[in-house]
Amino acid sequence: MECIFCKIVKGEIPSKKVLENEKFLAFHDINPIAPVHVLIIPKEHYEKFNDTPNEIFCEMADFIKNVAKELNITDYRLITNNGSNAGQEVFHLHVHMVSNPNGKLKWPKLV
Ligand code: AMP
Repeated sequence: MECIFCKIVKGEIPSKKVLENEKFLAFHDINPIAPVHVLIIPKEHYEKFNDTPNEIFCEMADFIKNVAKELNITDYRLITNNGSNAGQEVFHLHVHMVSNPNGKLKWPKLV
């Protein structure tokens, strides 16, 4: 069965898009944990960070900066959960971009 983010890329599942180019897509997380919570994905399917070619992740860095510009935010946190014990639930590489434009983000204890 095709993964949920591949379906979002194809438009088979709706998403609130922030930015898109031929290789990457950014859309709002359905269950936000901060005032801004956007997911950034490569359109090509890689299960997780560890399986992603370095060149793709490098290219994604540029796209991520453009997403921040599009959202008009300068301060944000990037998170990539790599593997189920790290909290990954959707196995299509994604970077969470979270931000609180009106104040600081907390840094919670994780264990
Ligand atoms: P992770 O736990 O790192 O794999 O993160 C998966 C994220 O995908 C979670 O924050 C979910 O809220 C989000 N998510 C799952 N399904 C959708 C969807 N259809 N549209 C937007 N975000 C989604």
